[in-house]
Amino acid sequence: MITVRFAPSPTGYMHIGNLRTALLNYLFALGMKKQTGEEFSFLLRMDDTDRERSKPEYEQAVYEDMRWLGIPWDRLEHQSKRLARYNEVLENLKQRGLVYACYETAEELEYKRRRQRARGLPPVYDRAGMKLTEEDKAKLEAEGRRPHYRFKLEHKETSWDDLVRGHCSYNGAHLSDPIIVREDGTFPYMLPSVIDDMDFGITHIIRGEDHVTNTAVQIQMFEVLGGKIPVFGHPPLLTGREGKLSKRLGSLSSRELREEGIEPMTIASLLARLGTSDPVVPCQTWEELAGHFDLTRFGRAQPHFDTEDLFKLNPRIVRSIPLDKVNARLKERGEKEITADFWTAVSPNIDKIADIAQWEQICFSDEIFALSEEDRTFCRQTLEFLPAGEFDQTTFGIWTGIVKEKTGRKGKDLFHPIRLALTGREQGPELKMLLPVLGRAKTVLRLQG
Ligand code: GLU
Repeated sequence: MITVRFAPSPTGYMHIGNLRTALLNYLFALGMKKQTGEEFSFLLRMDDTDRERSKPEYEQAVYEDMRWLGIPWDRLEHQSKRLARYNEVLENLKQRGLVYACYETAEELEYKRRRQRARGLPPVYDRAGMKLTEEDKAKLEAEGRRPHYRFKLEHKETSWDDLVRGHCSYNGAHLSDPIIVREDGTFPYMLPSVIDDMDFGITHIIRGEDHVTNTAVQIQMFEVLGGKIPVFGHPPLLTGREGKLSKRLGSLSSRELREEGIEPMTIASLLARLGTSDPVVPCQTWEELAGHFDLTRFGRAQPHFDTEDLFKLNPRIVRSIPLDKVNARLKERGEKEITADFWTAVSPNIDKIADIAQWEQICFSDEIFALSEEDRTFCRQTLEFLPAGEFDQTTFGIWTGIVKEKTGRKGKDLFHPIRLALTGREQGPELKMLLPVLGRAKTVLRLQG
C-alpha cells in the first residue's frame, strides 16, 4: 500500500509552495491508485518540535487549508507528542556509537566555516567533537557548556533514484554530520522525520528540492535504523516575483488566495502542470486531474510562479463548476441557491463565486435603470414587438428580429439600449440567455422605465 505524507511546520501560514507539496503528494497517490487500483493512505504530520515558533493558530490554518483544498488525510500525527520515541531511538544510536557529543557554540561553528571557506575548503564539520575525551567533556561542562549531538555519517556514496531528478548520489565525506539534538535537548527536523517515516510506513516522499541533501543524510539514518527506504521525488522549488518563495514573505498565503476568490481546483490544475512542459488543463475534480498526473514529467528547472496565472485560470474553472456544486458553495457562504437558467446565463461573465451576487442583484432586484431620453423612447417602442408566451432562449432573437425590421436599427444601435435598460451595464451575459431569467414582467418594467 502506498503511504504518502505532508509534513508542514506550523510556524506560519501556508504559502503556495507548501500547498504545492501537499497537492503533489495527493495527486501522486491518487494517480497511482488510478493506475494500479490500490488504495493509499495520506498522513498529515505536524512538524511541531519547535515549541517557540509552532503556534496553534498556524496548525488550525493548515487544517483549514487542507479542507479547503479538498485533500483529506487518513491519519494525523504530531511530532511534539513523539518525543519519548525519538529519545528511545537516540539512546539506541548513542549506545551503538553512531552519535557523538559536541560543545561548540554557534559562533564557534561559524568561525570554523569561515576559515574553511577562506582556505578554499567546503564548510564541512571537522568532527572535533569525536576527538574529545571524557576529561575534555567534563571540563567543557564545568565551563557551563551543554552538549549537542551529531549523527555520524558514513563516508561512503549514498544514492537513490529520484522520481524527478533521476539517479542522485552524495558522498558522506562531503556532508557535515547533522546535529540531531540541540543543546536544549530539542530535536531538529532531521532524525524525527526519519523515525516517523519509518514508524508510519511512508512509501513515497515528495518534497521540494531544498531537501535533496537531507535525503542523502536521511537514507543513512534509515539504513542504521533498519527502516525501509522510501522512494523520493524532489521537484524544483517555485520561484516567484520575489525570488524564492518563502513563508515569511507571506504575500501568497493561501488565505489571501482564498479571499481573492481563487478556487482550490485552480491552484491544483495550475500546480499539477507548472514545471512540466505539458499544457495546463482546467479540471473540476482531483480524480480528473490525477488521471493526467505524472511526477516524472517535472523538469529540473525552477518553474516561475506568478499569482496572475491563477487569476487568469480561475474564470475558466469557475465557469464550468456544475450547478449543484455552485449551489453548495453559495449555501456555505450563506447565500441563496440559483437556478440552472441563471447559471447558464451568467456563468460566462463570472471570474469568481463572489461575482454571482452582483448578477443576482442585477437580475432579481426591482431596480429600473436610468436611460437617456433617446434610448428610453426606443426601448418603449420595442415593447409592442415582444413575442407572446413564456420567454425562452429563442425569444430574444425573434423579438429583436422584428424590432430590426420595424425600426431599421441594427447592431449596437439596436442591442446597446436594450442591454442598458435590462441590466444597467455596458457589458454582461448574452441577452438571449438573460431574457428567460428576467421574465416578462421585469423585462416590460425595465423597458418601460
Ligand atoms: N517540516 C519539513 C518542511 O516543512 C518537512 C520536510 C519533509 O517533507 O521531509 O520542510
